[in-house]
Amino acid sequence: MGFKVILDKDTCIGCGVCASIAPEIFEIKNMKSNLVGMEPVTSGKQERALKDDEVEKAKEASNSCPTKSISVVEV
Ligand code: SF4
Repeated sequence: MGFKVILDKDTCIGCGVCASIAPEIFEIKNMKSNLVGMEPVTSGKQERALKDDEVEKAKEASNSCPTKSISVVEV
């Protein structure tokens, strides 16, 4: 059992909060948050599995996102 992060590019406003909390997971590309290492897309959702040591940071970013664009879910 683990967790994955889901990023909604449609509602993200590119504020940068997630990238400052968890730069190992999120980066700002083309005025939107992007999952580090993934091809930037401008709409739709991105997701990837989280390593155990990334889960707390991802949850903190999720709780801090002003548009609720980040979900951390159990898989
Ligand atoms: S905190 Fe939310 S709105 Fe801000 S860049 Fe990250 S995903 Fe987008």
